[in-house]
This record gives sequence, C-alpha cells and structure tokens, in this order.
Amino acid sequence: MKKYDYLIVGAGLYGAVFANEAKKAGKSCLVIEKRDHIAGNIYTYEWEGINVHQYGAHIFHTNNKDVWDYVNQFAVFNRYTNSPVANYNGEIYNLPFNMNTFNKMWGVITPAQAAEKIEQQRKEAGITEPKNLEEQAISLVGTDIYEKLIKGYTAKQWGRDCRDLPSFIIKRLPVRFTYDNNYFNALYQGIPVGGYTKLVENMLEGTEVQLNTDYLAEKEKFDALAEKVIYTGPVDAYFGYKLGTLQYRSVRFETELLDMENYQGNAVVNYTDYETPYTRIIEHKHFEFGTQPKTVISREYSAEWHQGDEPYYPVNNDQNNALYAQYKSLADKEENVIFGGRLGEYKYYDMDKVIEVALEVARAELS
Ligand code: FAD
Ligand code: UDP
Repeated sequence: MKKYDYLIVGAGLYGAVFANEAKKAGKSCLVIEKRDHIAGNIYTYEWEGINVHQYGAHIFHTNNKDVWDYVNQFAVFNRYTNSPVANYNGEIYNLPFNMNTFNKMWGVITPAQAAEKIEQQRKEAGITEPKNLEEQAISLVGTDIYEKLIKGYTAKQWGRDCRDLPSFIIKRLPVRFTYDNNYFNALYQGIPVGGYTKLVENMLEGTEVQLNTDYLAEKEKFDALAEKVIYTGPVDAYFGYKLGTLQYRSVRFETELLDMENYQGNAVVNYTDYETPYTRIIEHKHFEFGTQPKTVISREYSAEWHQGDEPYYPVNNDQNNALYAQYKSLADKEENVIFGGRLGEYKYYDMDKVIEVALEVARAELS
C-alpha cells in the first residue's frame, strides 16, 4: 500500500478538477507544483485591489451547461463579456469580425452589403479551397480585414507567416453578420469574482498541496508515494525530450501599476499592426468593472519558446502533431500515469475544455 492513491503533478485547472473529484470519491491525493503558487496559468493575484491575470487575460466561456454548473460551485461569476478592440495604427475596430467592424472598414450598413464585399475580395484573391491561415482568413473576411487586423497580429503572435500556419487557428474567432461585439459564441461567460486563484483554492480545499516541487527532478521518490500519477506537465519533458522537443509559443508580460483611473477604456486592446512590438495590452480592472483609483496594465510580447521558458501555446502544426503522436504512444504505455491538460495532451485547450476532459477522465477513473 502506498501513502496516496494519486499523485497529481501540476496545480493548474486540470489537476485541481481531478483532485476535487478524487476527494469526493474518498481517495487520497498529493498535489505537487513546480511554481510557487497554485492555479497554473489561470493564476491571479491582487495589486491595489485589482485582480491581475499574471499569465494573460483569462475569460471563462462555455456552451457546456455541465461545465458551467460545475465551476459555479467554486465561485460566483460576474457578467463580463469580452469585447476587445483592435488598434491598427490608431484606427479602432471592434472585434470579433462583425457588422461594427465591417461598417467601420467599408461603410457598409446591411449584412448583405458586407457579405457582398467579402465575397468580392475573396474572388479577387482567387481562393476556392483555403489551404492555410492567410487563405482561410481572406475567404472568411476579405483582404482588407486580413491586411489590417489579422496579418500583423498573427505574425507577431505565432512568429510565423500566415501562409505557414494552419487555418483552424483563425476559425477560433467568430465572424458575425450582426452588430454584436461579443468575442465568444458562448452561452455562458464571466470572470470569477475574487479571482481565479480563489476558485482553484476552493477546488483544492482539503487536498494536500506541495509548492516549489518539481516532479521530474525527483520522479522515483514521488512515484513511490502513490498508486497512480496524474501528470499535467509537458509530455515531452516527461520522456526527457528523447524523441525531440515539441514547439510552443511563449509570452512575456510587462506589467505595471499606473497612477490613473482608466488607461485604455477596455480590458483588451489588440495592436494588430506588425511594427508595435506587443500583441495586446490588458487593463485588468475592466474584467471586474473596477473603480479603484489606480490601474494595472500588462503588455503581451509573444516569443519563441526555449527549454526552461514557460510553455503557453502548443504549436499544433503537422510536424509537431506527428511528434506528439509518437509521444502519445509512449504515454499510452505508461500504465500508472494519466497525461492530461494543455501540456500533457499538447492541445490548444480553453479552460472549459480542460474541465470537460478532466471530469470525463476523473469519472471514468474513479467510478
Ligand atoms: P496549466 O495551467 O499549465 O497547469 C499545469 C501545471 O503543471 C502548471 O502550474 C505547471 O507549473 C505544473 N507543472 C508542469 N511541470 C511540472 C513538474 N515537472 N512538476 C510539478 N509541476 C509541474 N482559456 C480560456 O478558456 N479563456 C481564455 O481567455 C484563455 N486565455 C488564455 C490566455 C493565455 C495567454 C494562455 C496561455 C492561455 C489561455 N487560456 C484561456 C487557456 C488556459 O490557460 C488553459 O486552458 C488552462 O490554464 C490549462 O490548464 P492546465 O491545468 O491544463 O495547465
Ligand atoms: N487574431 C487576429 N487578430 C486579432 C485577434 C486574433 O489575427 O485581433 C488571430 C490570431 O491568429 C490568433 C487567433 O486569431 O492566434 C485566435 O485568437 P484568440 O483571441 O482566440 O487567441 P488566444 O490568444 O485566445 O489563443
């Protein structure tokens, strides 16, 4: 008999959901976390009364009522609706691409006029079957929007030309022929009042958590403690990168406190030209309708990932997906280990998907 039923590597959302389900099933768990805090990339901390999203803006959104009900057990969510604006060399456009964007870009008034304009630009570009992000974008919203709002931002974000990126990345964004600036096509949306860290803390209540602890540095010692391991770190790191390194995009955040009440009038402003070195500026207080006298902003600089940096976005192109498939077959052979989460499964998961998958896995495992 080992000391714990489960060793959970990573105190992010996936690990916290599994820990909570295991606790309810009467199982004992130890959660270990490399960083000095819980909550993984959704970690928030308070500065001058403002909840700061340390690893980038996180807006909870889902169409899955079970997932929505699930998270609402651990926090009250406000009614925040994400409506970022794009700043292209001083011209301001609404996002996602909708009638407000089309009106500002072309002066069109009706959905039919907007659709006609897009169709005309798609035809001029000669695209029938979009083969990459550039072609996909032009066929969805036309050349003008592609040039001003997508090309520069995407090249900065991914460090690659739009012709070398898969089209699914741009399909994440809605294109709407209504005057609706809601960034997400989701039935449920909001920000947890009191911050995400509190939400994760509530999930982990009653579970033993050890911070500043790297599983891979003392793997054998930790394996001896538990019957089974739930591993939410990078899958290639688990195997010592022996088949090669999966690529990620990393992000550097420059966060500062400003002695003013309102810096940019919106939580998220995207800088879509190529020359501005950052991709976006987040003004954290606006996620919670804050009225504090000061404000905290973060500039986001996208960066290539190198071993030792924080991995953020898996780069799911063909080459990396093929390498992941090889790691996955190794992972499937690790009898007592479940690999989960954005890093463990090398998938561009949003929070709701992480919860959905973690719940499925936990319920199958614990039933
Ligand atoms: P993580 O949060 O990465 O947790 C994994 C944990 O494992 C980390 O804390 C890590 O330190 C720890 N770990 C790794 N290796 C080891 C080890 N060897 N030993 C011990 N611990 C280890 N989703 C949305 O739904 N809405 C959004 O608006 C949104 N915005 C985002 C913005 C950015 C910039 C990014 C990068 C992501 C965004 N996401 C968003 C996605 C969201 O962050 C993820 O879906 C979610 O955080 C993934 O949870 P996870 O538990 O899988 O991974
Ligand atoms: N995108 C863009 N211009 C914008 C916002 C997004 O071209 O102003 C593109 C970009 O390629 C990005 C993708 O749309 O990677 C998906 O955007 P989303 O906001 O979903 O990215 P996230 O940062 O949430 O992963």
